[in-house]
Amino acid sequence: LTTNVATGAFDRGHLLIDGAWTPGEGESFTVLDKYRLEPVAEIAAATPAQVTAMVDAAHAAFRRGAPSAYERGAILQRASQLVSERRDGFVKTMQAEAGFTFADASGEVTRCVETLKLSGVEAQRLAGEVIPFEGAPNQDGRFAFTLRVPLGVVAAITPFNSPLNTVAHKIAPAFAAGNSVVLKPSSNTPLTACMLAEALVDAGMPAGFLSVLHGPGGIAARLLDDARLRFFAFTGSTEVGLGIQRQAGLRRTQMELGSIAFTILCDDADLDRALPKVVAAGYRKAGQVCTSIQMLLVSEAIFDAVKARLTPLVKALKFGDPADPETTVGPLISEKEAARVEAWIDEAVSRGAERLAGGARNGPVIPPTLLDRVDQSMRVGCAEIFGPVVCLLPFATLDEAIDRVNATPYGLATGIFTNRLADAFAAARRLEVGGVHVNETSSSRVDMMPYGGSKDSGFGREGPRYAIHEMTEERIVSISA
Ligand code: NAD
Repeated sequence: LTTNVATGAFDRGHLLIDGAWTPGEGESFTVLDKYRLEPVAEIAAATPAQVTAMVDAAHAAFRRGAPSAYERGAILQRASQLVSERRDGFVKTMQAEAGFTFADASGEVTRCVETLKLSGVEAQRLAGEVIPFEGAPNQDGRFAFTLRVPLGVVAAITPFNSPLNTVAHKIAPAFAAGNSVVLKPSSNTPLTACMLAEALVDAGMPAGFLSVLHGPGGIAARLLDDARLRFFAFTGSTEVGLGIQRQAGLRRTQMELGSIAFTILCDDADLDRALPKVVAAGYRKAGQVCTSIQMLLVSEAIFDAVKARLTPLVKALKFGDPADPETTVGPLISEKEAARVEAWIDEAVSRGAERLAGGARNGPVIPPTLLDRVDQSMRVGCAEIFGPVVCLLPFATLDEAIDRVNATPYGLATGIFTNRLADAFAAARRLEVGGVHVNETSSSRVDMMPYGGSKDSGFGREGPRYAIHEMTEERIVSISA
């Protein structure tokens, strides 16, 4: 492996331009270990000229034509195998630059292996359909079919909180479809992205089909000025996504944005089954997951019981050093973010919320927090917290619970625990979200499924099969005999 995990050094430079690892010629920035707050790597950003060189190479590669669908599938399968073999390096890198616990980092690798594999399978299945022209008047002797064709150069812009699998969910389907990709990973977690790119290159990704760009958000904005970019696959905050959408003009985008995720516990919920899932979905990656439970809606009939059982479970979570195998809740991505989360909690408490679990911030670490008596005048009650904080909210009827979920501007995913089919169907039909998971939490994601949001959580769907659909278009071909 080229990346020295201890030092973060990537001895051939961090930018991938036309198949070659190249040092950036722009300003450099430091990647920190997110718990120890010590430097892990120094990365030089790309200059505008280097961005242009990447797009030149990506565009030329696309025009030359992608390898066959079979070969693209084979490259993705080999990359999957390489990521699996390099698991330890990926885990250590994410533990440092993302502050992930072993379980969180390892889970990213397991999912990335699967995402690459699924993308390889889908590359080989990419097909259009026969259109029966002869069923139309006066079209005898004509034969027609569609091709699903790639769009061109795709920009993939990714956040810090899933530094491996979210990157894979964009670049693998893009290449599976025959597009070339320029990747701009989060500056918080650039090394994991470099390592994934390296695995793809080692697996045989031809020059120009993948470029890696580092730098502040503004550098990605340059891609928007270049008309050769045909698609923007973005995961990140609603605010940045909106800016990209405004500049994208007539070009297509996929927007995986912010969320306030809810999970509903109905009065018949099986709490033995539900509560461990709720804890995992509230505090995994220190709550820095777009589908993390921020709001736990609990039927009044079981509210006291849930409170009494959940509080000790949250208090028992070990938090702090992600290198400690006992730790389940590590640091937030920065001290600044932790200070913001602390301020939101303090604001809620000062306005009458009750802190059932939690405690003082320690640098970038926020102890797992459980709040009761939250209302929508508090920031924790109306904005995305992206931290290890779960708020308990009682409800009287399922209608009230559904209305509460739909009252937020977001709509990514909702979990509901009930065994009443009628309630499960009502939730599935009426919740304004991209996914409803019955007897699972909002955070339930299987990489093959269509995944994405509605309303301010964005649009477009991830999941290799669905992302390939987004990143291709239909071309009709007709033949008159
Ligand atoms: P962010 O929006 O700050 O950054 C995301 C990416 O956009 C980074 O690579 C960043 O460098 C880049 N960027 C920043 N400014 C830009 C600009 N002006 N033009 C182009 N690119 C720009 O998000 P983050 O803090 O890294 O991630 C957290 C956010 O991501 C949360 O809001 C979370 O909900 C969201 N998220 C959503 C999903 C989903 O699937 N819906 C998944 C994960 C994270």
